[in-house]
Amino acid sequence: MGLEEIKTRIAAACKEAGRDADTVSLIAVSKVQPNARVEAVLEQGHRVFGENRVQEAQGKWPDFRERFEGVELHLIGPLQSNKARVAMELFDAIHTVDRRKIAATIARLADELGRCPDLFVQVNTGEEDQKAGCLPADVDGFVAECRMLSLPVKGLMCIPPVDEEPSLHFALLAKMAARNGLEGLSMGMSADFEQAIALGATHVRVGSAIFGARVAG
Ligand SMILES: *Cc1c(COP(=O)(O)O)cnc(C)c1O
Repeated sequence: MGLEEIKTRIAAACKEAGRDADTVSLIAVSKVQPNARVEAVLEQGHRVFGENRVQEAQGKWPDFRERFEGVELHLIGPLQSNKARVAMELFDAIHTVDRRKIAATIARLADELGRCPDLFVQVNTGEEDQKAGCLPADVDGFVAECRMLSLPVKGLMCIPPVDEEPSLHFALLAKMAARNGLEGLSMGMSADFEQAIALGATHVRVGSAIFGARVAG
Protein backbone atom coordinates (compact mmCIF):
# COMPACT_ATOMS: atom_id res chain seq x y z
CA MET A 1 0.00 0.00 0.00
CA GLY A 2 0.99 3.60 -0.41
CA LEU A 3 1.14 6.20 -3.14
CA GLU A 4 3.89 4.63 -5.24
CA GLU A 5 2.27 1.22 -5.27
CA ILE A 6 -1.08 2.64 -6.31
CA LYS A 7 0.55 4.66 -9.11
CA THR A 8 2.31 1.51 -10.32
CA ARG A 9 -0.96 -0.43 -10.29
CA ILE A 10 -2.74 2.38 -12.16
CA ALA A 11 -0.02 2.37 -14.82
CA ALA A 12 -0.35 -1.41 -15.17
CA ALA A 13 -4.14 -1.23 -15.42
CA CYS A 14 -3.83 1.46 -18.09
CA LYS A 15 -1.36 -0.64 -20.05
CA GLU A 16 -3.65 -3.64 -19.82
CA ALA A 17 -6.54 -1.54 -21.12
CA GLY A 18 -4.45 -0.02 -23.90
CA ARG A 19 -4.75 3.43 -22.38
CA ASP A 20 -2.17 6.14 -21.71
CA ALA A 21 -1.42 6.45 -17.99
CA ASP A 22 -1.97 10.20 -18.17
CA THR A 23 -5.64 9.70 -19.05
CA VAL A 24 -6.35 8.63 -15.46
CA SER A 25 -6.18 11.13 -12.64
CA LEU A 26 -5.53 9.72 -9.17
CA ILE A 27 -7.57 11.52 -6.52
CA ALA A 28 -6.01 10.75 -3.13
CA VAL A 29 -8.96 10.72 -0.74
CA SER A 30 -7.68 12.29 2.46
CA LYS A 31 -10.92 12.52 4.45
CA VAL A 32 -10.53 11.78 8.16
CA GLN A 33 -6.80 11.10 7.76
CA PRO A 34 -4.36 12.65 10.23
CA ASN A 35 -2.64 15.69 8.74
CA ALA A 36 0.76 14.01 9.06
CA ARG A 37 -0.30 11.30 6.60
CA VAL A 38 -1.67 13.85 4.14
CA GLU A 39 1.48 15.89 4.43
CA ALA A 40 3.63 12.84 3.74
CA VAL A 41 1.78 12.30 0.46
CA LEU A 42 2.17 15.98 -0.43
CA GLU A 43 5.89 15.66 0.30
CA GLN A 44 6.02 12.79 -2.18
CA GLY A 45 4.87 15.25 -4.81
CA HIS A 46 1.22 14.29 -5.14
CA ARG A 47 -1.15 17.22 -5.63
CA VAL A 48 -4.62 15.88 -6.41
CA PHE A 49 -6.79 15.22 -3.35
CA GLY A 50 -10.40 14.46 -2.51
CA GLU A 51 -12.48 15.32 0.53
CA ASN A 52 -16.07 14.44 1.27
CA ARG A 53 -16.96 17.16 3.77
CA VAL A 54 -16.77 20.85 3.00
CA GLN A 55 -16.14 21.84 6.59
CA GLU A 56 -13.36 19.33 7.13
CA ALA A 57 -11.66 20.45 3.92
CA GLN A 58 -11.97 24.08 4.95
CA GLY A 59 -10.09 23.28 8.15
CA LYS A 60 -6.98 21.84 6.54
CA TRP A 61 -6.59 22.73 2.87
CA PRO A 62 -6.07 26.50 3.01
CA ASP A 63 -2.93 25.82 5.12
CA PHE A 64 -1.67 23.00 2.90
CA ARG A 65 -2.25 25.17 -0.16
CA GLU A 66 -0.04 27.88 1.28
CA ARG A 67 2.76 25.39 1.80
CA PHE A 68 2.41 23.26 -1.32
CA GLU A 69 1.92 24.73 -4.76
CA GLY A 70 -0.44 23.34 -7.35
CA VAL A 71 -2.93 21.53 -5.13
CA GLU A 72 -6.07 20.38 -6.94
CA LEU A 73 -8.97 19.65 -4.61
CA HIS A 74 -12.03 17.54 -5.44
CA LEU A 75 -15.28 17.43 -3.46
CA ILE A 76 -16.54 13.84 -3.56
CA GLY A 77 -19.17 14.01 -0.80
CA PRO A 78 -22.67 15.47 -0.68
CA LEU A 79 -23.15 19.20 -1.15
CA GLN A 80 -25.82 21.23 0.63
CA SER A 81 -26.96 24.53 -0.82
CA ASN A 82 -25.89 26.47 2.25
CA LYS A 83 -22.30 25.23 1.81
CA ALA A 84 -22.21 25.76 -1.94
CA ARG A 85 -20.43 29.11 -1.92
CA VAL A 86 -17.63 27.91 0.36
CA ALA A 87 -17.34 24.72 -1.68
CA MET A 88 -17.06 26.63 -4.94
CA GLU A 89 -14.34 28.83 -3.51
CA LEU A 90 -12.38 25.92 -2.07
CA PHE A 91 -12.70 23.10 -4.59
CA ASP A 92 -11.46 22.76 -8.16
CA ALA A 93 -14.04 20.08 -8.95
CA ILE A 94 -17.35 18.91 -7.47
CA HIS A 95 -18.30 15.29 -8.17
CA THR A 96 -21.69 15.23 -6.48
CA VAL A 97 -24.09 17.40 -8.47
CA ASP A 98 -27.28 15.37 -8.37
CA ARG A 99 -30.39 17.53 -8.30
CA ARG A 100 -32.00 20.56 -9.84
CA LYS A 101 -31.82 22.73 -6.75
CA ILE A 102 -28.07 22.40 -6.25
CA ALA A 103 -27.47 22.89 -9.98
CA ALA A 104 -29.43 26.15 -9.89
CA THR A 105 -27.52 27.32 -6.80
CA ILE A 106 -24.18 26.53 -8.40
CA ALA A 107 -25.21 28.40 -11.56
CA ARG A 108 -26.19 31.48 -9.59
CA LEU A 109 -22.95 31.44 -7.58
CA ALA A 110 -20.87 30.85 -10.71
CA ASP A 111 -22.32 34.09 -12.10
CA GLU A 112 -21.48 35.91 -8.91
CA LEU A 113 -17.99 34.49 -8.47
CA GLY A 114 -17.07 34.60 -12.14
CA ARG A 115 -15.80 31.03 -11.98
CA CYS A 116 -17.07 27.52 -11.52
CA PRO A 117 -15.33 24.29 -10.53
CA ASP A 118 -15.45 21.37 -12.96
CA LEU A 119 -18.64 19.46 -12.28
CA PHE A 120 -19.58 15.78 -12.31
CA VAL A 121 -23.12 14.50 -12.07
CA GLN A 122 -23.42 11.79 -9.43
CA VAL A 123 -25.54 8.85 -10.55
CA ASN A 124 -27.17 6.42 -8.12
CA THR A 125 -26.52 3.48 -10.44
CA GLY A 126 -27.73 0.95 -7.87
CA GLU A 127 -30.93 2.92 -7.23
CA GLU A 128 -30.29 2.64 -3.49
CA ASP A 129 -32.68 4.55 -1.22
CA GLN A 130 -29.99 5.75 1.16
CA LYS A 131 -27.58 6.89 -1.53
CA ALA A 132 -27.34 10.30 -3.15
CA GLY A 133 -27.25 10.69 -6.90
CA CYS A 134 -29.57 11.20 -9.77
CA LEU A 135 -31.42 8.06 -10.89
CA PRO A 136 -30.24 6.44 -14.14
CA ALA A 137 -33.54 7.23 -15.86
CA ASP A 138 -33.13 10.93 -15.06
CA VAL A 139 -29.50 11.37 -16.10
CA ASP A 140 -30.01 12.52 -19.69
CA GLY A 141 -32.60 15.10 -18.68
CA PHE A 142 -30.55 16.35 -15.75
CA VAL A 143 -27.37 16.71 -17.82
CA ALA A 144 -29.38 18.68 -20.39
CA GLU A 145 -30.71 20.96 -17.64
CA CYS A 146 -27.21 21.57 -16.33
CA ARG A 147 -26.08 22.47 -19.82
CA MET A 148 -29.01 24.85 -20.16
CA LEU A 149 -27.65 26.57 -17.05
CA SER A 150 -24.21 26.75 -18.76
CA LEU A 151 -22.67 24.60 -16.05
CA PRO A 152 -19.29 23.02 -16.90
CA VAL A 153 -20.35 19.37 -16.60
CA LYS A 154 -17.29 17.25 -17.35
CA GLY A 155 -18.57 13.80 -16.57
CA LEU A 156 -20.45 11.35 -14.38
CA MET A 157 -19.62 9.84 -11.00
CA CYS A 158 -20.88 6.74 -9.19
CA ILE A 159 -20.38 4.74 -5.99
CA PRO A 160 -21.53 1.17 -6.66
CA PRO A 161 -23.52 -0.74 -4.00
CA VAL A 162 -21.12 -2.52 -1.64
CA ASP A 163 -22.55 -5.97 -2.28
CA GLU A 164 -22.68 -5.91 -6.07
CA GLU A 165 -20.17 -6.47 -8.82
CA PRO A 166 -18.81 -2.96 -9.42
CA SER A 167 -17.98 -3.57 -13.08
CA LEU A 168 -21.67 -3.66 -14.00
CA HIS A 169 -22.09 -0.21 -12.50
CA PHE A 170 -18.93 1.14 -14.11
CA ALA A 171 -20.08 -0.13 -17.51
CA LEU A 172 -23.52 1.44 -17.02
CA LEU A 173 -21.96 4.78 -16.04
CA ALA A 174 -19.64 4.69 -19.07
CA LYS A 175 -22.60 4.05 -21.36
CA MET A 176 -24.60 6.94 -19.90
CA ALA A 177 -21.60 9.28 -20.21
CA ALA A 178 -20.97 8.29 -23.82
CA ARG A 179 -24.54 8.88 -24.92
CA ASN A 180 -24.43 12.32 -23.30
CA GLY A 181 -21.13 13.25 -24.91
CA LEU A 182 -19.30 13.38 -21.57
CA GLU A 183 -15.66 12.31 -21.30
CA GLY A 184 -15.18 12.31 -17.55
CA LEU A 185 -15.81 9.16 -15.53
CA SER A 186 -15.24 9.42 -11.78
CA MET A 187 -15.35 5.81 -10.62
CA GLY A 188 -13.23 3.29 -8.79
CA MET A 189 -12.01 3.26 -5.18
CA SER A 190 -9.35 1.31 -3.25
CA ALA A 191 -11.00 -2.06 -3.84
CA ASP A 192 -11.90 -1.69 -7.51
CA PHE A 193 -9.97 1.07 -9.27
CA GLU A 194 -8.35 -1.35 -11.71
CA GLN A 195 -11.76 -2.57 -12.90
CA ALA A 196 -12.87 1.04 -13.22
CA ILE A 197 -9.83 1.86 -15.36
CA ALA A 198 -10.59 -1.12 -17.61
CA LEU A 199 -14.04 0.39 -18.16
CA GLY A 200 -12.83 3.91 -18.88
CA ALA A 201 -12.43 5.75 -15.55
CA THR A 202 -10.74 9.14 -15.95
CA HIS A 203 -10.74 9.87 -12.19
CA VAL A 204 -10.20 7.17 -9.57
CA ARG A 205 -10.85 8.07 -5.93
CA VAL A 206 -8.48 6.11 -3.72
CA GLY A 207 -8.28 6.63 0.03
CA SER A 208 -7.36 3.78 2.35
CA ALA A 209 -5.05 2.04 -0.13
CA ILE A 210 -2.86 5.15 -0.14
CA PHE A 211 -3.15 6.43 3.41
CA GLY A 212 -4.00 3.31 5.38
CA ALA A 213 -7.27 2.61 7.14
CA ARG A 214 -9.19 5.71 8.13
CA VAL A 215 -8.80 6.56 11.79
CA ALA A 216 -12.18 6.57 13.47
CA GLY A 217 -13.09 9.97 14.60
C1 LIG B 1 -14.15 7.62 1.03
C2 LIG B 1 -14.48 7.68 -0.40
C3 LIG B 1 -13.62 7.12 -1.37
C4 LIG B 1 -12.33 6.39 -1.03
O1 LIG B 1 -12.62 5.17 -0.43
P1 LIG B 1 -11.46 4.06 -0.21
O2 LIG B 1 -12.22 2.80 -0.18
O3 LIG B 1 -10.80 4.40 1.07
O4 LIG B 1 -10.55 4.14 -1.36
C5 LIG B 1 -13.96 7.24 -2.69
N1 LIG B 1 -15.10 7.88 -3.07
C6 LIG B 1 -15.95 8.42 -2.19
C7 LIG B 1 -17.17 9.11 -2.67
C8 LIG B 1 -15.67 8.34 -0.83
O5 LIG B 1 -16.53 8.90 0.05
